[in-house]
Order: sequence, then C-alpha cells, then structure tokens
Amino acid sequence: MNIKNVTVAGSGVLGSQIAFQTAFFGFNVSVYDINDEVLEKAKERFKALKPRYQQDLGATQEEVEAAYNRLTLFSDLRQAVKDADLVIEAVPEVINIKNEFYENLSAVAPKKTIFASNSSTMIPSQLAHVTDRPEKYLHLHFANEIWHRNTAEIMKHEGTNEEVFNDVVEFSKAIGMVALPMHKEQHGYILNSLLVPYIQAAENLVVNGIADHETVDKTWMIATGAPIGPFAFLDVIGINTPYNLALAKAQEGDVNAEKVAEFLKKEFIDKGRLGIQNGKGFYDYPNPKFLEKDFLK
Ligand code: NAD
Repeated sequence: MNIKNVTVAGSGVLGSQIAFQTAFFGFNVSVYDINDEVLEKAKERFKALKPRYQQDLGATQEEVEAAYNRLTLFSDLRQAVKDADLVIEAVPEVINIKNEFYENLSAVAPKKTIFASNSSTMIPSQLAHVTDRPEKYLHLHFANEIWHRNTAEIMKHEGTNEEVFNDVVEFSKAIGMVALPMHKEQHGYILNSLLVPYIQAAENLVVNGIADHETVDKTWMIATGAPIGPFAFLDVIGINTPYNLALAKAQEGDVNAEKVAEFLKKEFIDKGRLGIQNGKGFYDYPNPKFLEKDFLK
C-alpha cells in the first residue's frame, strides 16, 4: 500500500471521526477546514472523541493523547495537502460545495494524491469529472461512530484505476475498518440499498393501517431472529432522518411517502419523540417494550 500521508477535508461530524480514527491507527493526519474558527470547533470534537475511544474500545489515555497529537489542523488547502497520498473529503453533502472543493483541490494537490469522497448520497461518476484525475477518484464511505460502526464501503466508477482501488481497500483495513469493496456504482452503497427499502416497507405497513409498529417489529424479530425490528431501528437512526427522506420523496409526488412524512411529524417530531437520543420514539427508553420477556409471545 502506498498511502502514508492522509488529509481529511471537512472537520464536521464525520470528518472529525475519520481524522481521529486514522490518527488512532498511527497515521499523521492533516485536517483541512474553511477557517480557524471552524478548526477550533474541530479541536473540541476531537477532545470529545477521546473518552468515546476509551469507553467503547478500551483505549488508554496515552493512546488517545497520541492520536490527538498526530492531528495537524490547516485552513490553507495547499498546505494541508502538500504531501498527501490520500485526501478523504467530508465536506457538506451539497453538490456545488463538492464541485468547488474538487476544483480547488485539483489545482493544489500533488499528482500522486488519491481523492476519496465520504459522500452518502452521490456516486463517484457525479464528481470524478470535476477533478483533474478521475482515475485516482473513488468513494470511501464510513458510518457515523466510525470507531465501532466500522464499515468502509469502497466504490469505484468505471474509470478508477484498479491499483488505486486496491490501495484504498488496504488503507481502510489499516485504520481498523472492515473493507467492503463495491465493483460498480450504486446509489446508497450496500447498506442503504438494503436499509432504505426495508424501512420504507415497514413505514408503509403502518401508515396504510395494515399492522401497528409493534406487530411489524415482532414479526421481523420472531421470523428472522433479528434482535430488533424496523421501528426499534428507526429509534436508533433518529426520527428526523427518515422524516426528511419521506418529505423529499413526498415532494416528488410519492403518495405513500407523504403519508409517512405526515405521520412522523404529527405523532413523533411534534411530540418531541425523536428516538433513542432523547429517550423516546416508537418506544420509551431505557427499557423499551421490545426487550420485555413477553414481547415475542
Ligand atoms: P458536517 O456539516 O458536520 O461537516 C462538514 C464540514 O465541512 C464542516 O466542518 C464545514 O465547515 C466543512 N466545510 C464546508 N465547506 C467546506 C469546504 N469548501 N472545504 C472544506 N470543508 C468545508 O457534515 P457531515 O455530517 O460530517 O458530512 C460530511 C460528509 O460526510 C457528507 O458528504 C455526508 O454525506 C457524509 N456522511 C455523513 C454521515 C453522518 O452521519 N453525518 C455519515 C456518512 C457520511
């Protein structure tokens, strides 16, 4: 693998996690964001990650301090990517921002640098042509809470060089990920290609009055042996994300999605039931009904 120097662009929710994870596994990481004020916030994000690595992974104080010390912050893109073998981009999921970022990056990055986007909803061929090196462009998609939800979906487009693809697969393993290579483009990668239709099917059963959410979850849990059903999982995701998805589909004229959006807003968002994050959603936490002994009877 030829990747030693890594730059993460965008130090928000995911960028900060990707940078810290990479540093935790021994890489020196340059972090780029638009100005010093945002970079100050990034420092706070990194500090907040330290106890999570200690709690969730059993990392020592020395290990998390060492990771923190391997991070160098830049608001100058040219400086940030000066030696980069790989730039992982985690800037906002807005096409114009991504386009402008890749134009700027292409102008200052060394020829050797591989560009990998963490975009959740775009596919590589949407952005590859904006760069000056489509053969060195691909997607490397992480999940929120990267240190224990350690999937790395790696997706190439038709023009991605095979060696580049393999290098990024190896790199993802070197930072503690389970590498999930994807040989063709697919919106939603693997996980959301499965998850989105699954959640939508469950929502449709409920909003169309076919069964209530507990019955749906029960069916799934008993029949598949899964520890939770789709509505318990919606509580994990948080109600806002499925609501925004339903709203977007409703605006495209999808009638079921309109019912789902209305239902989630009226019954959950307006009542402050946003999921596990605030202790209530489809279920009440910390002791949700689906964990009770009799739930599956
Ligand atoms: P975020 O809004 O938390 O962070 C974005 C960061 O990018 C901010 O720090 C912002 O200052 C910075 N930024 C804005 N313009 C920039 C520019 N031109 N150059 C460099 N940095 C710039 O967003 P996020 O949730 O971390 O999402 C970032 C990317 O990661 C998106 O593509 C998103 O789809 C993807 N992603 C997010 C999640 C998630 O759960 N949040 C999960 C997987 C993938």
